[in-house]
Amino acid sequence: MVNKKFIYADHAATSALDPEAFEAMKEFLVDNFANPSQPYSFARNAKKAIQNARKTIAECINADEDEIFFTSCGTESNNWVIKSILYQNQKKGIITSNIEHHAILETCKRIEKFKDYYSTYIQVNSNGLVNPEALKKQFNIYNDVYLTSIMYANNEYGAIQPIKELASISHQNGSLFHTDAVQAVGHVALDVKDLNVDMLSSSAHKFNGPKGIGFLYVKKGLDIPSLINGGSQEKGKRAGTENVASIVGMSTALKNNCNKLKENAQHIIELEEVFLRKLKESNLDFICNTNVNHIPGNISLSFKGISGETLMHRLDLKGIMVSTGSACDSVKNQTSHVIKALGVPEDYAYGTIRISLGKENTEDEIEEIFIAIYEIVKSLTA
Ligand code: PLP
Repeated sequence: MVNKKFIYADHAATSALDPEAFEAMKEFLVDNFANPSQPYSFARNAKKAIQNARKTIAECINADEDEIFFTSCGTESNNWVIKSILYQNQKKGIITSNIEHHAILETCKRIEKFKDYYSTYIQVNSNGLVNPEALKKQFNIYNDVYLTSIMYANNEYGAIQPIKELASISHQNGSLFHTDAVQAVGHVALDVKDLNVDMLSSSAHKFNGPKGIGFLYVKKGLDIPSLINGGSQEKGKRAGTENVASIVGMSTALKNNCNKLKENAQHIIELEEVFLRKLKESNLDFICNTNVNHIPGNISLSFKGISGETLMHRLDLKGIMVSTGSACDSVKNQTSHVIKALGVPEDYAYGTIRISLGKENTEDEIEEIFIAIYEIVKSLTA
């Protein structure tokens, strides 16, 4: 359980492990330590547990079980997808956007170092959305696009992209379509068949699963090149003895979250509305960067004339955990590429924090977060 001595409002960075997931994992950490690839009876439970987990995860996103490949995290899933282009001789282009996570952007930069391979970046509009017309324009310029990769929801301001439409445009232009759904899976209803995406990345620790485990959905019939060569695990595409306990924990957490999607969302949205109302009624000078359909509770705020970094640390001193942007950018301590992409004016951009609420947060906590922000921002601008 989250240490209740502090208020945790950074659920987009990571989330607390679901106690039921932890219980389910224990068996495979302690008693049943068998290698699931072994043929003897002791290994049967582990093998069965992996099969069940794959089925459960597939059901949560309306996939088939043989379309789910276990990976170690969202970053790995994204790397697998992007680097698969290097096995292509004909189509050498990737279309992506300028608000993607570093796991996509840095991997695209890597493939650009190979001769003839390229990536191109769509600029989002002022609401932080990829305009379908902007994607069409890219296809007018480039005719050898192998893959389009657009995130389902942004990790800093939460906006949900028009994925179904973007996937359809990509297919009409002969490109595969991938979505980085790390912030979305387990938080919003998601149906890969309806979206008609070819690949989708996910990570367990964002939906109350354990860290170090994720999955990649790959549509049936698409023969993605192997990521790791070795044994026959994951149909030989991602070899290596399976992380049985984490796979079981991931599927338990996802099932529990998906069973309560509406209930959780309703609770979080109520908290978010209370919080934003209080902020708007205060006389603080700020911009809310989250203003379209978004992941419940994921709010980006830019306060005028202060440092987001200072605000984050002062909140920390009061026992409140928020972030200045994504976990990665907060280490680098600079305005993130995402906030720059949104065109937030500089005197506000520097004062950006991300608050990401979770199902465990309460109205009392929201009140405390609001009061703390109010007092700190007031003192910093006095
Ligand atoms: N993609 C997005 C949108 C994310 O928010 C993150 C993590 O913050 C990742 C990818 C990387 O996921 P992981 O931490 O599992 O590698």
